[in-house]
Amino acid sequence: MPVYPEVPKDTLHLPALYTTNKYSIMSVLVFIDTAEGHVKKSSLEAITYGAKVAEQLGTTAEAVVLGSVADDLAALGKYGVKKIHQVAGDSLNHFDAQVYTKLIAQVAAAAGAKVIVFSNNVTGKAVAPRLSVRLKAGLVSGAVALPDTSNGFVVKKNVFSGKAFANISVNTDVKILSLSPNAYQTIEGEGMAEVVAFNATADAAKVKIISTIKASGEVPLTEAEIVVSAGRGLKGPENWGMVEDLAKTLHAATACSRPVADAHWRPHNEHVGQTGFAIAPNLYIAIGISGAIQHLAGVNRSKVIVVINKDPEAPFFKAADYGIVGDAFEIVPQMTEAIKKLKG
Ligand SMILES: Cc1cc2nc3c(=O)[nH]c(=O)nc-3n(C[C@H](O)[C@H](O)[C@H](O)COP(=O)(O)OP(=O)(O)OC[C@H]3O[C@@H](n4cnc5c(N)ncnc54)[C@H](O)[C@@H]3O)c2cc1C
Repeated sequence: MPVYPEVPKDTLHLPALYTTNKYSIMSVLVFIDTAEGHVKKSSLEAITYGAKVAEQLGTTAEAVVLGSVADDLAALGKYGVKKIHQVAGDSLNHFDAQVYTKLIAQVAAAAGAKVIVFSNNVTGKAVAPRLSVRLKAGLVSGAVALPDTSNGFVVKKNVFSGKAFANISVNTDVKILSLSPNAYQTIEGEGMAEVVAFNATADAAKVKIISTIKASGEVPLTEAEIVVSAGRGLKGPENWGMVEDLAKTLHAATACSRPVADAHWRPHNEHVGQTGFAIAPNLYIAIGISGAIQHLAGVNRSKVIVVINKDPEAPFFKAADYGIVGDAFEIVPQMTEAIKKLKG
């Protein structure tokens, strides 16, 4: 039986969750995801979000990070996290969903975490469901707003490829949320986090990494602020030079529609959509892509969408913030030149 601290007598002014689970220690735990020793932008959003959830519940946000980190972890306190548990170990620099799940579960238990927050990125998508099974915790993947705690714990998420919202009521003692990238803005405040070493144990990894092949391209697609994407309208792989030029000028990542990847015009790690990567950059430029529902499912959370298509009836224009009707082979080089001039 776990030992719980005494519950404060005056529970009248405590948030609903605290009063319904009157013996729980409340804490919000955020998983900090890293790549090559650097904290991912999506994790900064998750920390800001987790800190706000904690504030709503009248508690504090803590975080867990696995492996070595080059960034100053204590400085993440400015996003609202008070304490960061770091599980060290070179082997943890390689992602292993089973090992990560076991370690995060141990930190969650020690921190008395009742709400655990991930980013709904590749790591979060692999670990959050496993942790949910292990902790018998309700999971909402792809949360897009703070939970409504006025009457229970209700979380809003996108459904039907972004065509509708669902409000999910989570009734389990421990709750897991994974936040859609770009759904919640980072807020920088003041403060430093306390960084503590956490001794956790996990069985040896069942997955052995023999080699790692890095995706080409200067900017990783899932973390990119700007994405330049092209489809079958480009006619063939030999025409991607102008797409890459535009991407380079904007310091953007490149992406493509599925038929383009299927035809091996571009690598599969650039394929976005329902069956590819789901991305949410600040700016998504779609060139010669029709805008099929399966494509939109992966990109419709982008903040601003610019569509270039020679067909004014292309469905993508309905989802666009800005549309240019015309031949991509004329427009894209002109656009690149104009941006170069603008950048001086
Ligand atoms: C189960 C399932 C899952 C799928 N998953 C995905 C997915 O994850 N991602 C995905 O992308 N698709 C997916 N698809 C495929 C999807 O339905 C579409 O077929 C696909 O997105 C179309 O790709 P496209 O827009 O590049 O090509 P097209 O539909 O051929 O469109 C080409 C566009 O280029 C325009 N164009 C042509 N020439 C020019 C020019 N010179 N200048 C400007 N515009 C030009 C045309 O007007 C047209 O709109 C899936 C399909 C199924 C059934």
